[in-house]
Amino acid sequence: MLSTMQDVPLLISRILAHGSSIHGTSLVTTWTGEGEPARRSYAEIGARSAQLAHALREDLGVEGDDRVATLMWNNAEHVEAYFAIPSMGAVLHTLNLRLPAEQLIWIANHAADRVVIVNGSLLPLLAPLLPHLTSVEHVVVSGPGDRSLLGGASARVHEYEELLAGKPTAYEWPELDERSAAAMCYTSGTTGDPKGVVYSHRSIYLHSMQVNLTQSMGLTDQDTSLVVVPQFHVNAWGLPHATFMTGVSMLMPDRFLQPVPLAQMIEQERPTHAAAVPTIWQGLLAELGAHSRDVSSLGQVTIGGAACPPSLMEAFDKLGMRVCHAWGMTETSPLGTVARPPAHAVGTEEEFTYRTTQGRFPAGVEARLTGPGGERLPWDGESAGELEVRGPWIAGAYYGGEGAEVLRPADKFSEDGWLKTGDVGTISADGYLTLTDRAKDVIKSGGEWISSVELENALMAHPDVSEAAVVAVPDDRWGERPLATVVLKEGSTADFTALRSFLAEEGGIAKWQLPERWTVIESVPKTSVGKFDKKVLRRQYAEGELD
Ligand code: ADP
Repeated sequence: MLSTMQDVPLLISRILAHGSSIHGTSLVTTWTGEGEPARRSYAEIGARSAQLAHALREDLGVEGDDRVATLMWNNAEHVEAYFAIPSMGAVLHTLNLRLPAEQLIWIANHAADRVVIVNGSLLPLLAPLLPHLTSVEHVVVSGPGDRSLLGGASARVHEYEELLAGKPTAYEWPELDERSAAAMCYTSGTTGDPKGVVYSHRSIYLHSMQVNLTQSMGLTDQDTSLVVVPQFHVNAWGLPHATFMTGVSMLMPDRFLQPVPLAQMIEQERPTHAAAVPTIWQGLLAELGAHSRDVSSLGQVTIGGAACPPSLMEAFDKLGMRVCHAWGMTETSPLGTVARPPAHAVGTEEEFTYRTTQGRFPAGVEARLTGPGGERLPWDGESAGELEVRGPWIAGAYYGGEGAEVLRPADKFSEDGWLKTGDVGTISADGYLTLTDRAKDVIKSGGEWISSVELENALMAHPDVSEAAVVAVPDDRWGERPLATVVLKEGSTADFTALRSFLAEEGGIAKWQLPERWTVIESVPKTSVGKFDKKVLRRQYAEGELD
């Protein structure tokens, strides 16, 4: 029997229409580095998104599922692109501006991007790439920057504001198939070529509703979210879409992502929420230690993308900024788990332990653990295996390229269609995920596994350590052993013997897991999205640079 319900497609244009009317007075505030920040209401964003869509269609000839790329910081114009491009039926492709040139070229050509919208400040990055971008016909420049850098470009160059000027502020958004492509994002390609994940209107819509649940970020129109996580990193964790559903205002840092301007914008604009990877918050913490600031507005900080060290959580708690830990991947849109403690633990000693897990699976994300022989493992909080997930906002394949079949590599997708995350951990009976490591970062010592994350968390709890990354290095006797690379705080006197004892005595690390190889480094190398880049450390060790 069919239902009697209306079949209204879940489209990005509906999120835009809702946000720009019902929440028309909510704001996107973009930090400009000097003077007043730029403020634009959701109603204005709605009108300008319509103008952008008219310009893309009428002036640039964008049609069908043409790919329109963005090479942009987090700002109001990027939000307009987020809504205009998918709403008109084209596909938004967010380019990660921190990737090496050859990867950016590969990705833009693979996606067959026809248009690139670029911030003027990023023209020095785009200009040398352009001659290699074989499908790009138009470049649209937004904001200050040296246009002369594009002098010899064969693509046509347009001014963002000139394109929008005079265009109608309404657009008859097409009634699309909710399963069609809305946006795409490539994983950063730590192994092999980058892989394209293509989100649908439906997946983004459902994911946004999940982000808004009280059990997730739970924000309302009384909140302002400081969106530090880049819009090119998994759709800024879904925030621009989710906020347009609920009227949460957004504070966008543009290119000012360093600890000092972040501290300034928190003090001045008083956001109530913020989201970013742990390394950003480590930097902010150091800055707040050096220069006191009023950051009391920040009631909730979502930390994900890499394990949040419990020491960071404690330090933030002390400053009144309550951390909510979350786990996800480009392939999971990204919200997969959120660490809200269960009711029975609130106010007890268990509460903190729950908060340091990766979190609980929401309705919409099914999970299972698979052992090394392919066997299913129980949810007992002890049996560790690879996490596999499925759900309406989880990828089931990668983009194969224009006209090509989608890719389903066997190491990423099970035969029955689940995503193999490459993350190893346990799940408790009440559905909390604890990750011990990424499969590729686990240290396999004498047939036993050592968690690099556990060693790092224990090390970063030492008052003299600002960052620590632990990687596996080859060992004749044990196969692999941990190498601890540590960044010491200024003026610190800690030596390796002291750190080793600290791990054993305070960190509760078993003796056989304690690293015997140590090195002090100036900073831990970071990936394009600000995570510890362990493959660089492994390479540096192999090349004798870390002795
Ligand atoms: P990349 O592979 O380039 O880092 P993603 O952002 O898709 O790109 O990374 C997803 C991975 O990040 C996950 O598979 C997991 O290993 C790691 N990760 C994300 N969130 C957490 C977290 N809260 N704790 C531990 N690891 C995390």
